[in-house]
Amino acid sequence: MEDCIFCRIVAGEIPADVVHTTERTVAFRDQNPQAPLHVLVIPKEHHANAADLATADPAASAELVRTAAAVATAEGYDDHRLVFNSGAEAGQTVFHTHLHLLAGRPMTWPPG
Ligand code: 5GP
Ligand code: ZN
Repeated sequence: MEDCIFCRIVAGEIPADVVHTTERTVAFRDQNPQAPLHVLVIPKEHHANAADLATADPAASAELVRTAAAVATAEGYDDHRLVFNSGAEAGQTVFHTHLHLLAGRPMTWPPG
């Protein structure tokens, strides 16, 4: 997708602080971190949200979660939070599936 900022990161057209890549995913640090560790794990292929990815490519969906857990461990955090925002009202601003990995501070519940 031409206008998609995350597709452009996958293509290497926009720089990102990439911490891990797998066959189907790329993990990079969020530009506006909300915790000491805040990484976005995205599929290399464009899908609009988590449910669309799970329908189109369940293996990639599972790989997002595995990758996030591996990054948390590699960065020294056992406890972590994983978040998918789906839809504008839920806080989604980039419409390319991304899994937020947050760790390194106490988390409150419910999220705002
Ligand atoms: P959303 O609000 O859609 O769930 O999350 C989008 C996230 O992407 C935000 O946390 C925002 O800071 C991050 N983000 C948006 N554009 C860029 C970018 O160009 N580079 C990086 N590293 N993060 C971005
Ligand atoms: Zn995209």
